[in-house]
Amino acid sequence: MVKCTGKSVLKGIAVGRICLYRKKVADVSHAPAENVEKELERFDLAVGRAKEQLAALYENALKSVGEEEAMIFDVHSMMLEDEGYLEDIRALIQDGRNAQAAVHETGQQYSRMFAEMDDEYMKARSADVLDISGRVIDILTGAGEMSIQSQTPVILLADDLTPSETISMDKSKILAFVTVHGSASSHTAILARSMNLPSLVNTQTELLEEYHGKMAVVDGFHGELLIDPPQDILDAMILKRDQWTAEREGLRGLIGADNVTRDGRRVNVYCNIGNAQDADSVLAADGGGIGLFRSEFLFLGRDSCPSEEEQFESYKKVLEKMQGKKVIIRTLDIGADKKADYLDLEPEENPALGYRAIRICMDRPELFCTQLRAIYRASAFGTAAIMFPMIISLEEIREIKRIVEGVKKELADKQVPMGEVELGIMIETPAAALISDELAGEVDFFSIGTNDLTQYTLAADRQNQKLEKICDTHHKAVLKLIGMTVENGHKKGIWVGICGELAADLSLTRTFVDMGVDELSVSPAYVLELRKTIREL
Ligand code: PEP
Ligand code: MG
Repeated sequence: MVKCTGKSVLKGIAVGRICLYRKKVADVSHAPAENVEKELERFDLAVGRAKEQLAALYENALKSVGEEEAMIFDVHSMMLEDEGYLEDIRALIQDGRNAQAAVHETGQQYSRMFAEMDDEYMKARSADVLDISGRVIDILTGAGEMSIQSQTPVILLADDLTPSETISMDKSKILAFVTVHGSASSHTAILARSMNLPSLVNTQTELLEEYHGKMAVVDGFHGELLIDPPQDILDAMILKRDQWTAEREGLRGLIGADNVTRDGRRVNVYCNIGNAQDADSVLAADGGGIGLFRSEFLFLGRDSCPSEEEQFESYKKVLEKMQGKKVIIRTLDIGADKKADYLDLEPEENPALGYRAIRICMDRPELFCTQLRAIYRASAFGTAAIMFPMIISLEEIREIKRIVEGVKKELADKQVPMGEVELGIMIETPAAALISDELAGEVDFFSIGTNDLTQYTLAADRQNQKLEKICDTHHKAVLKLIGMTVENGHKKGIWVGICGELAADLSLTRTFVDMGVDELSVSPAYVLELRKTIREL
């Protein structure tokens, strides 16, 4: 047996076979084709295979994120039927290029052509043509992401995963994630938590080919990966897994119960989600509302911005599912580790301290107003609230409110029905916490983002696994800023919640209740445990 230690991101145990997930880089060398006929045949086979992959991706996306988001794979499939594109590639092969070089050259040429067009829709196809060309090249060269071939769910062992990769995976095929890199407050870890998968990051292991297909155990209680354990250990871990499942089932007795301490203090327990489907887990866990809808996840793992219509449908779906319970939609928090190539953001030296979130939205009114319009239109279907990320100043809020008023007026002039929408901000920079007395006068609520508040207060990048030891989420400075924010919010009569991962840290629930925190927003997996803890205080 090989035992490796890592950092657990969720309690629980997974038992299953390992699937190695390794990305290989495509070699687009310009070695001439030795046999033109064979090269043409290889190309046709790769196009056929790419279409099969796209059909599978479409079906998968349809189930997990809905029709609007799935459409992109259909569009890609149609592009692979474009005779002009296919003939240009074939002509280059006939001219002596190998298949991958011909696809690469044609993809680049079409991408440039689309990018130069005036029409916004056609411009956006520039990234699509690169994407489909990349897919065909990966098939031709055997590179790219390995798909999960196994019919039964597996433990996915990877070097690292980006949020886009994690979000594109078929959850029904995964028991747990184990990554060599990554940190517990990265968005990949947050996604694993929201998928309710016991997972490890920063794991001391190698990605050996021989591990592929081996039986393994992920122990999320002790942060351990056991590869090829002997039968007695395997049996003991299966027993432990089943006991844990039974214990979690026992918590279901708390469904419908209040989140009230024994001396009568009520705390709202809401949930964090990343897409419309996640609202089902919130309802199943009896979450009181949605405290953080990370809307940027709608923008990841795709090749162009979701349109106003697509966004409207997603927000509406969540609001309808939640049947009047509050849904707080956070506006686009892209940048840092959450990347979308089609936004053409330049690489930065310090992305976490860089051009992200509200800073991008305020510079790109079309992007921001499209999202605001979609939210306000959806607000007629439930109780919507909006919150803005990465705020540092009073001026920002005033400017945002001016933009919001403009959007509301535009919709009102067209007699579009809208609901009452609370406006709040995230307190996730020390600047915002320190001037929270002034900011409180401008908004309806505060939601404290402890993930970023911790990294900015301690000057420790949340993505950097080397800093996990010093990234002390219980640091006095962080707790002091939280306490100060709650106090300042209450002085101005607004409610204050916490939506960072710290909200689910049961060892701090008493501290938060003592501070007077009104709402804790956590992954659906934590709702009932948190309710139990609150009720015992
Ligand atoms: C936070 O920073 O605590 C937060 C909730 O936002 P995110 O984790 O998405 O940055
Ligand atoms: Mg944040």
